[in-house]
Amino acid sequence: MLKNASGPMALRSLIAAVTLSTAAVTALAQAVDPSVPKWARPVIPWPTVTTSVKQAINSNLADASVKASMDALQADEVRTLQETITLSEIAAPPFGEEKRAQAYLEMLKQSGLSDVSMDKEGNVIGVRKGSGKGPSVVVDAHLDTVFPATTDLKVREKDGKYFGPGITDDTRALAVMLSWVRALKSANVKTVGDLIFVGSVGEEGNGDLRGMRAFFKEHTNIDAMLGLEATPVGVVSPLNTGSIRYEVKYSAPGGHSYGAFGEVPSAIHAMGRAIAMIADINATKVPRTTYNVGIVDGGRSVNTISPDATMEVDMRSDGVKELKAIEKKILAMIEKSVVLENKRFGGQALTVSIKKIGERPGGLTPSAHPLIQAALGSMRALGQKELMTVGLSTNAGIPLSLNIPTIIMGPGGKFEGFHALTEAMDPKDGYKGSQIALLTALSLVGVEGVSKPVIAIRNAK
Ligand SMILES: [Zn+2]
Repeated sequence: MLKNASGPMALRSLIAAVTLSTAAVTALAQAVDPSVPKWARPVIPWPTVTTSVKQAINSNLADASVKASMDALQADEVRTLQETITLSEIAAPPFGEEKRAQAYLEMLKQSGLSDVSMDKEGNVIGVRKGSGKGPSVVVDAHLDTVFPATTDLKVREKDGKYFGPGITDDTRALAVMLSWVRALKSANVKTVGDLIFVGSVGEEGNGDLRGMRAFFKEHTNIDAMLGLEATPVGVVSPLNTGSIRYEVKYSAPGGHSYGAFGEVPSAIHAMGRAIAMIADINATKVPRTTYNVGIVDGGRSVNTISPDATMEVDMRSDGVKELKAIEKKILAMIEKSVVLENKRFGGQALTVSIKKIGERPGGLTPSAHPLIQAALGSMRALGQKELMTVGLSTNAGIPLSLNIPTIIMGPGGKFEGFHALTEAMDPKDGYKGSQIALLTALSLVGVEGVSKPVIAIRNAK
């Protein structure tokens, strides 16, 4: 992605904007919507929306069928909320999404899609064909949540807010896709390009984007992706933060803490050396780069020189080069910790095995891309103040790493408590965000007899 002619320029302008005005723009963002989370770091300036993109959006909005589909989203709010609750109460932990996927497949059919299937990985895919002359655009929301199957998922309402683990991330978006399917059908909207709805598996944690990886391996004809994630209305994320995760296992002979002292190396001591070195790394602030030793485990008893120690390390960066650099640094520190601990006792008794347990690629859709313009233009056309963020880590990483233009938008509604048991959604005026995202999607694929698709068909088909 960054090798594109416009890529590095766009990234630099994004970075410059972040550096100069993060505080001011964040304040603005929070004035607009207090639910904008801290990680949502808006970026300006926005690209100019070209006349042709504006025209496509305006023609779509003036069209009776498109207008009817927009109205249908508002009229569908109660059902959308009910379906959000229904889906939210079906457990979908990583690697355990089948039940929710099965239910979602049926709901897509009931909403009016006939071409619905589940692929080998477990993704639910519903195709809404266009006239055949336009681009193929994926609309994605993920089925999985971070919560184990044993979690109490009963949704509870209080003061208009709906509390339920996973209800925002990303269940609301799944329900919004169902309402789109119904709205497009009831309003008889005929698109030029295909809309491919995907309820994907494996977005969270150790799922490691397995759903998206499998989908894009199978479908090489996709021209763009619009991912729906629980972000505030007005937010567009054209950038995916890359991440790499390792499990690091130290092994040593072990021994009595008194009897074998000074004779054998300790797995825990070696790991401690590594953690101390890692904790002192100065990561780049721009692009934002982070690291974390998140899990440590090991040891037998307080008086045993430990034969084993394990840690899990996470590193992330908004920059592709910076991610590679910090990975190299941390791996070198782990190797060094082994050398130091062995050196202290002589020999090679201590060993380490390093296993990559996660890799989420990063990437960027250049800010001048018609996909970003369509999102921005749709917001403006519907009276929404725009914000832009960087720093998300989502399914977008896979298509972005394949140079497929991708953005993340919100499905409407307000959200809080991501990944916490107190996760909650306020659906008030949620249809507005849903309308903006649908108008964006329609502009991408074009409406038969009304507007041409604003994005091109990629050559890579
Ligand atoms: Zn999510």
